[in-house]
Amino acid sequence: MTKTKEDLDLIKKDTEYVWHSMKPYSPDSTIIAEKANGSWITDHNGNRYLDAMAGLWCVNVGHGRTELAEAAYEQLKEMAYFPLSQSHKPAIQLAEKLNELLGEEYVIFFSNSGSEANETAFKIARQYHQQNGEYSRYKIISRYRAYHGSSMGALAATGQAQRKYKYEPLAPGFLHVPPPDLYRSSDKKDARPQDLESVKDIDHVMTWELSETIAAVIMEPIITGGGVIVPPDGYMAGVKEVCEKHGALLIVDEVICGFGRTGEPFGFMNYGVKPDIITMAKGITSAYLPLSATAVRKEIYNAFKGTEEYEYFRHVNTFGGNPAACALALKNIEILEKENLFERSKHLGEQLKNSLIELLANHPYVGDVRGKGLMIGIELVKDKGTKEPLETELVNRVITGCKQKGLIIGKNGATVAGFNNILQLAPPLNILEEDIEFIIQVLTEQLQAL
Ligand code: PMP
Repeated sequence: MTKTKEDLDLIKKDTEYVWHSMKPYSPDSTIIAEKANGSWITDHNGNRYLDAMAGLWCVNVGHGRTELAEAAYEQLKEMAYFPLSQSHKPAIQLAEKLNELLGEEYVIFFSNSGSEANETAFKIARQYHQQNGEYSRYKIISRYRAYHGSSMGALAATGQAQRKYKYEPLAPGFLHVPPPDLYRSSDKKDARPQDLESVKDIDHVMTWELSETIAAVIMEPIITGGGVIVPPDGYMAGVKEVCEKHGALLIVDEVICGFGRTGEPFGFMNYGVKPDIITMAKGITSAYLPLSATAVRKEIYNAFKGTEEYEYFRHVNTFGGNPAACALALKNIEILEKENLFERSKHLGEQLKNSLIELLANHPYVGDVRGKGLMIGIELVKDKGTKEPLETELVNRVITGCKQKGLIIGKNGATVAGFNNILQLAPPLNILEEDIEFIIQVLTEQLQAL
């Protein structure tokens, strides 16, 4: 398509003024989006793309929901801002609603991004142990391959060295263990938790680092951006058991898995585990406005309730729990429930996964197709026997090919060199069945063309 003068001007200004994340700027591969509706994005040239990543795994109720815009507008007219060092109705109502969704008694601390929600969780975990007189518990264990955010603590928790090494020293006190990886490790899907090597790894680290130095484990129920790594059934329960044995808290990062992405309101609900702290962002507002939350079990919160100043949680967030964002989040959750989108994610996700497994079974480069709900990973390998990852150049060819045909798909984020080999799908949960067909058609065509 020939570019108009206005296009060229826009691209020139974008190149000059906007710093994009994670990649060199290229006018040919950057979509300058202008409008969005349902699962579709329209760029400034009028080209349409099916957004099979729901932005960055976040637009769960789909684009263009005027109800959400209206909920925010009504609240902005009423009262745009008041800090949560005091309180306001939208935050109270949202905290109550989140409690109902979580099915347990949690107290909610609001902030604006997934990174902040995780930073908040780390500080709560550390101070909680201090409130209980356990002053040496500061270490936080997370898993290689998982991403937990871009700030110095959340990045320290992240298990992807390529994102980190240029910014060190990061926050100290973070340790990593390997995650389970059913495709590549000896763990079995239906093994008992105590038999899983990946659970034993955490137990060993806690033992040899000394239990009394460990504050918490942070984990996503399913590693998302690191490659859609679905754990064996008993893994999460095993991690919780090990945490209890060593006196550590279990922080569950639901920034992507939450709000229906895995077919349940929260990802941990697939595994029957009760976390101590739960962090959420993205899908809480379907990304229409920034908002995140750290949900903390009542029992932990109660340790902060003393009247002495040193017992307060010394943590402030100016914009956290913005009234308009809270009002919008409430409407967003109402839509998720009314339109049955948790259930829809579960069954459409299963359908999409099974179709891809069937269609790609004999593809020489497709080593594994996996996922839960509308979150699917396709691991590409050079050789199905050795499982050596496919070259990044070929993986990128599929992504570029899809984009040229009007389909946006994802790839696991920066990991160790060579392991950029997992394609990802995470469309809006209200995606139409015909759009699922479009994903299958374009993606399989591009894979067959390799
Ligand atoms: N945790 C997970 C699992 C994430 O995927 C992300 C963002 N992709 C974050 C935390 C950080 O969220 P944010 O970008 O909103 O800071």
